Amino acid sequence: MPERRFFREECYIAGEWLGGGSVIDVNNPATGESIGTVPNLGRAETQRAIDAAHAVFPEWRERSADERGDLCRKIFEALMDNQAALGELLTVEMGKPLAEAKGEVAYAASFFKWFGEEARRVYGDIVPSSWADKRIVVTKQPVGVVGSITPWNFPTAMIARKAAAALAAGCPIICKPALQTPYSALAYGVIADDIGLPKGVLSVITGPAPEIADEFCENPKVRKITFTGSTPVGKTLSSNALRYMKRVSMELGGNAPFIVFDDADLDRAVDGAVACKYRNSGQTCVSANRILVQAGIYDAFAEKFAAKVKSMKVGNGLEDGVEQGPLIDEAAVAKVEAHITDATSKGAEILTGGKRHELGGTFFEPTVLRDVASTMRVSCDETFGPVAPLFKFETEEEAIRMANDTEYGLASYFYTRDLGRAWRVMEALEYGIIGVNEGIISTPVAPFGGVKDSGQGREGSKYGLEDYLDIKYALVGGLR
Ligand code: NAP
Repeated sequence: MPERRFFREECYIAGEWLGGGSVIDVNNPATGESIGTVPNLGRAETQRAIDAAHAVFPEWRERSADERGDLCRKIFEALMDNQAALGELLTVEMGKPLAEAKGEVAYAASFFKWFGEEARRVYGDIVPSSWADKRIVVTKQPVGVVGSITPWNFPTAMIARKAAAALAAGCPIICKPALQTPYSALAYGVIADDIGLPKGVLSVITGPAPEIADEFCENPKVRKITFTGSTPVGKTLSSNALRYMKRVSMELGGNAPFIVFDDADLDRAVDGAVACKYRNSGQTCVSANRILVQAGIYDAFAEKFAAKVKSMKVGNGLEDGVEQGPLIDEAAVAKVEAHITDATSKGAEILTGGKRHELGGTFFEPTVLRDVASTMRVSCDETFGPVAPLFKFETEEEAIRMANDTEYGLASYFYTRDLGRAWRVMEALEYGIIGVNEGIISTPVAPFGGVKDSGQGREGSKYGLEDYLDIKYALVGGLR
């Protein structure tokens, strides 16, 4: 059991811990055992959190950027000081290897550090005036109360990308985490208490997602909704939010191509593909969903890649040396199995893996498929699991066409040593994020987000802060 101080089975609403009533069970995906319960709260408690956020908004907004930045910095320090305990909590509820979980805590912390600093740089403009006796002043102001909904695959980091920007900008935030991973979210309540964040500035509520989401959409005190999750839910939520003219940020699904050209550094491409594909057991929105390899290097890449994947250690994330934990639940395993069955029935060959792991439960063998074609489900549907399908292409034009042949546009990757090709392909890929000779692209200082069905808005970087700011223009007249 993780350190008790961060393990709270109550919600953190308006600066108070709230329990009682019906509860939701939370299980450890590695063991199938119950970890505990969290409250099953609904609209009334969401309203309470919103009321508190709305009440504290004027005071929070008026604090100096230095003060808000310093509090963000304290959250960064609290996360880093408790990295081991928070990492363990994350592994127990989500399943990822402990090293990855601790890495996620550090990654989450880095957003509070970055945005704490960035709070001091919310600049406006003086625009050259159209009139001699008037001046045009542009300032930026916090949008107001934010409702946030996040998934289970990065339970600490997905909240950080939103909450750090919101707090830095001067917005209070209410966080609704995924049902499978509420404890890493509730730990933010403990930290908020510890550092003396004003009551109502950050609340964490657990309960039925549609009910909480409806309250976020319909309550006029909420001015922005930020969501990370699947594209279908994101689209429904966006259209509901827009009916009430709320600002939205949507970080949705992906179908990332990972292109390896003949002239690539083969070992670098293999290492990049393993890291990109199997991190978090393939359960990431930027995971390589389709690996496109040029004909001249295809066999060599397939052999080296499959050999590396075959040697990966699968097990309980708390055990030493484990590189891949369980999948989140049975539905995730069923989807992976369905993708593999569909591909092999249409002619794909399994190079390694391909079935449930002997450990049982939701453990699955890291899998590589070769001779994959665009008629197979893996080419158009996000697998969200440890399956790497290898497609073959002949020319640069064909690779670009295949890569862009999807409704998604989040992350993409390619490996080449040709500078001209690097620029051509970078410009041709219809994606929000591109890794050139790199398989891991996340950092708080760069804008993370997608185009097309992968959503709108950006998280991280100076652009991520803009998503929590409204622009105000003032015309100051009567000067002469
Ligand atoms: P999901 O089903 O959409 O769930 C995500 C969140 O939405 C959870 O908190 C869930 O709550 C909530 N939710 C479910 N139904 C809802 C509804 N009708 N209205 C409002 N909220 C609702 O997504 P998932 O399958 O758990 O997560 C994986 C997806 O997230 C993948 O598609 C992945 O690509 C995407 N993702 C994107 C990014 C990015 O930055 N672009 C990052 C990570 C993940 P409950 O848990 O209570 O159901």
